[in-house]
Amino acid sequence: MVVVMKPTAADADVAHVVERVREAGGQAFVSPGKYRTIIGLVGDTDRFMELPLASLPGVEQVVRVGRPYKLVARELHPEPTTVKIGSHPVDRHTITVIAGPCAVESPEQAAEAARMAKGAGAHLLRGGAYKPRTSPYSFQGLAERGLEILAACRDATGLPVVTEVMEARDVDLVAGTADALQIGARNMQNFALLKEVGRALLPVILKRGLSATVEEWLMAAEYVAREGNTDIVLCERGIRTFETATRNTLDLAGMVVARQATHLPVIVDPSHATGQRSLVAPMARAAVAAGADGIMVEVHPHPEAALSDGPQALTGNDLEDLVSELAALGQALGKAVPGR
Ligand code: PEP
Ligand code: MN
Repeated sequence: MVVVMKPTAADADVAHVVERVREAGGQAFVSPGKYRTIIGLVGDTDRFMELPLASLPGVEQVVRVGRPYKLVARELHPEPTTVKIGSHPVDRHTITVIAGPCAVESPEQAAEAARMAKGAGAHLLRGGAYKPRTSPYSFQGLAERGLEILAACRDATGLPVVTEVMEARDVDLVAGTADALQIGARNMQNFALLKEVGRALLPVILKRGLSATVEEWLMAAEYVAREGNTDIVLCERGIRTFETATRNTLDLAGMVVARQATHLPVIVDPSHATGQRSLVAPMARAAVAAGADGIMVEVHPHPEAALSDGPQALTGNDLEDLVSELAALGQALGKAVPGR
């Protein structure tokens, strides 16, 4: 159940609702929005129904929610959320481009990739310092040294940095450098990690798990939101299916389902979804045409020498062409690619 407060509700009105819910043995999760505060109630709905919640001061309406996620649900928070990463707003009016190498490999490689991203018109720089690799013998990332290199790339290009955090105990460390914390597909249901990034004061890019349903993905976002952090961008990156022609199967319909179900921005990563350079631009265009609020793509100055994911890395020219195409698509859709 959810209590939607009036835009004019005072803090004391919110506190009063929370108190009444607690008296009834329930838990209340307050989600302050730009226009109105929403309070998610967890507990015995029948007991809540007995409370005069709808007539308490400042309350606009009380809604019984069919969905298991509440704070990220659009029905209770109709106005779309803008997630600011650095000074860049990720929202539903614009097309955000996040680009960078799969992994930070060296200061030179990262700097070159960052220059490529910036030169092509990307808004945010991605790059992994901690890499979730299938094989323990594969390159695992440069860890803290990688974070330092990312900070230098930000200084050089002005691009805010998105980077993955793999473990709850590393959240503070990674948050010390990052402008947004990425939760990778393999960690989408690492609940300890989700709770920890939910307590961090940084935006979160939450990738969909390899075999997660849209509902499970939204429940993962709910974990983050429940800790007080609603600056979440969802990222569809392909799911496991029987098909082996592509690395994963890009679920564009699932992306749209998620976008309809939540007020959070939803972006698409066509690099991990396809695993092949030649498929990245077509799927990026399809994603934006279907309503995605942005894309995350991998670029590398020397894909053939990349320590991870070389076959799916775009070159600088590929990225430049793609950003131009997205800008043209944006014109048709009434969405801008900032800077274009
Ligand atoms: C990544 O973006 O670097 C990554 C590892 O992606 P995913 O978690 O989607 O596999
Ligand atoms: Mn990668």
